[in-house]
Amino acid sequence: MAAKIETGASSDEYVTYAPPGYKCQSCGKAIKSLDPVRRVHIERVSGSPVVHYRHTGCIR
Ligand SMILES: [Zn+2]
Repeated sequence: MAAKIETGASSDEYVTYAPPGYKCQSCGKAIKSLDPVRRVHIERVSGSPVVHYRHTGCIR
């Protein structure tokens, strides 16, 4: 198990705004400062956790 992807309801996943420079992991477009996004936290066995952001509209 190389990576654990948290999906669904989680205390660590919520709708927020992404810091500048992030791209949506679903559509690959840059996230605008006022675009509501869902924060996705991925824990890795080795290394530090990774945080991705996706547009709320890009989440199925
Ligand atoms: Zn998107």
